[in-house]
Amino acid sequence: AKSRGRATYCLFQDGMGDAMRKRRQIEEDLHVAIADGELELYYQPRLDLETGHISSYEALIRWHHPQKGLISPGDFIPVAENSGQIIQIGKWVLHTALKDAAGPLAHARISVNVSPVQFRDTEFAEEVRQSLAASGVPAERLELEITENLLIEDDERALSILSSLKATGIKIALDDFGVGYSSLGYLSRFPFDTIKIDRSFIQQRGYNANSQAIIDTVVRLGKALNMSIVAEGVEDLDSLLFLRDSGCDELQGFFIGRPEPLSRMVLDTSPEIAA
Ligand code: C2E
Ligand code: CA
Ligand code: CA
Ligand code: CA
Repeated sequence: AKSRGRATYCLFQDGMGDAMRKRRQIEEDLHVAIADGELELYYQPRLDLETGHISSYEALIRWHHPQKGLISPGDFIPVAENSGQIIQIGKWVLHTALKDAAGPLAHARISVNVSPVQFRDTEFAEEVRQSLAASGVPAERLELEITENLLIEDDERALSILSSLKATGIKIALDDFGVGYSSLGYLSRFPFDTIKIDRSFIQQRGYNANSQAIIDTVVRLGKALNMSIVAEGVEDLDSLLFLRDSGCDELQGFFIGRPEPLSRMVLDTSPEIAA
């Protein structure tokens, strides 16, 4: 037992120790980041295939680290979820997105990613309503993107919170659809307005006939359930044409537009796309 203990200790030192030190460093730096304004929202456009206009933007967080440069959310959101800092970050994201939705993005709808951890906060729904009211943005112009992880965690609670948000007019999107467990039961139980087909299906489409079949099926299913279908990860014209012909409602991806900070965005302000 003694030698096994030592072996575990060694492993921990060499492998996990590094990872843990890194996490702790990110955690520490994040405290500063929030206070010092190192976080920024980038916005990625969504093309409405019916009108041919940009109908909405997804807010995607970025971290400008003073030493390490630009850090992508995949590298710090999981850490922030673990430490609980996501609560504070999530509030900042919502507040900032709504401020922009009331200002430069006033012609479009706005989508905000919400972590399952934020839903554990009993104040969450009330805070969303308050931020919305304070911003003056109509509820219909705000969409929350959630993943099925939320539904797996505590689906009774999730259902009640989502229903109450929806009752105020906020739109709810199921993100990353098709990866994970994605039980079809979720689609009938939860009040989604939008299904976002995960980009892995779009990207395998060219060389995987099953992916095409799945996309077609999800589109038909979504239509039957009165949900709007968004495909993410659209990187080329071929994909755009295929997805248009499949009946998707909206497209998102590098081919349509990359996520960009407000300062670099060229806004399509055609009046006919006002929400
Ligand atoms: P997501 O919600 O699935 O967001 C889409 C991700 O795909 C974004 O990565 C986006 O930059 C990237 N993407 C968009 N179009 C394309 C494309 O055509 N090709 C490829 N290869 N990628 C594309 P990003 O910005 O690095 O965000 C990663 C994830 O971090 C997001 O995945 C989301 O889960 C999370 N995240 C981002 N912002 C927030 C936030 O404000 N709050 C929370 N809780 N999570 C966030
Ligand atoms: Ca998303
Ligand atoms: Ca995704
Ligand atoms: Ca995601």
